[in-house]
Amino acid sequence: MSNATQLIHSIPVDPLTGSISVPIYQTSTFVQDAPGEHKGYDYARSNNPTRETLEKIVALLEGGERASAFASGLAAIDAVVKLLESGDEILAVDDIYGGAFRLFTHIYAKFGITVNYTDTTDIANVIDAITPKTKLIWLETPTNPTLKISDIETIATIAKQHNILLCVDNTFASPILQQPIKLGADLVVHSATKYLGGHSDLIAGIVVSATQELGDKIKFIQNASGAILAPHDSWLVIRGVETLHLRVKEHSRNALIVAQYLEKHPAIDKVYYPGLKSHPNHDIAAKQQLGFGGIVSFTLKNNTEDAARAVVCSTKLFKLAESLGGVKSLLCHPAQMTHKSIPAEKRRAAGVVDSLIRLSVGLEEVDDLIRDIEQALNKAQTFVAEIKVAAFQ
Ligand SMILES: *Cc1c(COP(=O)(O)O)cnc(C)c1O
Repeated sequence: MSNATQLIHSIPVDPLTGSISVPIYQTSTFVQDAPGEHKGYDYARSNNPTRETLEKIVALLEGGERASAFASGLAAIDAVVKLLESGDEILAVDDIYGGAFRLFTHIYAKFGITVNYTDTTDIANVIDAITPKTKLIWLETPTNPTLKISDIETIATIAKQHNILLCVDNTFASPILQQPIKLGADLVVHSATKYLGGHSDLIAGIVVSATQELGDKIKFIQNASGAILAPHDSWLVIRGVETLHLRVKEHSRNALIVAQYLEKHPAIDKVYYPGLKSHPNHDIAAKQQLGFGGIVSFTLKNNTEDAARAVVCSTKLFKLAESLGGVKSLLCHPAQMTHKSIPAEKRRAAGVVDSLIRLSVGLEEVDDLIRDIEQALNKAQTFVAEIKVAAFQ
């Protein structure tokens, strides 16, 4: 059976009524026959049938044993960090999602969990940065926003040798393009807000565990800390996942065409897209991914915030907003938006320079998207030239 067929039919028909759409169990509690005698559900924080259906579908999609759905991607990341103890160290990719950086630095540092950041695209850096206290390796691949690729399989082997857990934030690739657990990862997290949900209409997160044992620990944390995904949002993610295959394929197709267009444009300095032959980690991406995803980042030859600002304020189809992975194309200026909480020096060192712009290429007709970027770049060049003239007057 093809993956698409399997995915669509992993979403069960309701055995009670035959409803082809998963029922939304909008309830806080479940009536028991006698104390402790119930149908597998006692309280909706601990378990909810709608959420459980979503968790099973995503576990299957990722090739994991168990999944737990959370109120946001960050709540999912938070649950994974809670596997650690005070004194433990995390070894994390340097080009990390800003919110994960904030969580590690401003919350977990207080509890004695420290983080070593390194460029995990180079295996030698990973080996060097491991200490006896390292208990978790945190990868994002591709990263946000410079689309760096780390070799999951090789890092998983190193992690196993040192008895370290490997968690991969798979938000950008989605399980359609990449299944880290099959490459040796212990845990996968998603911001389901992005491709899994796919319609820019909710905030959600998921942790998938490779083993039942780890899955049970995450499930315990989910119940004990309580940041669960609500039934209606669980249903929306299920509905999104039904078309994940189609969407991700089309996002990737459009993004490659946009990246190739940008690469030839005279106002552009660098284009970051793992599907381009010029991408430094293209070979690893081609080895571990089935496609290259819908995110493209680029920098301008005029590497200033003003120039980037002029571009992001001039597009019409690409809407200026944080987030990504939805049907509608979005763009953002990481230095002033998603990565604002990272100190400027650290941010620039990780490649998030002042003119970097991130596109989430949507499902519009790709020619329309290219025309939109073209007119924005033209307008921005005129605008920035005018500012320069004004400055000399
Ligand atoms: C958005 C995002 C998150 C955080 O998810 P939320 O749903 O916004 O809490 C984590 N990792 C990556 C890569 C993201 O893009």
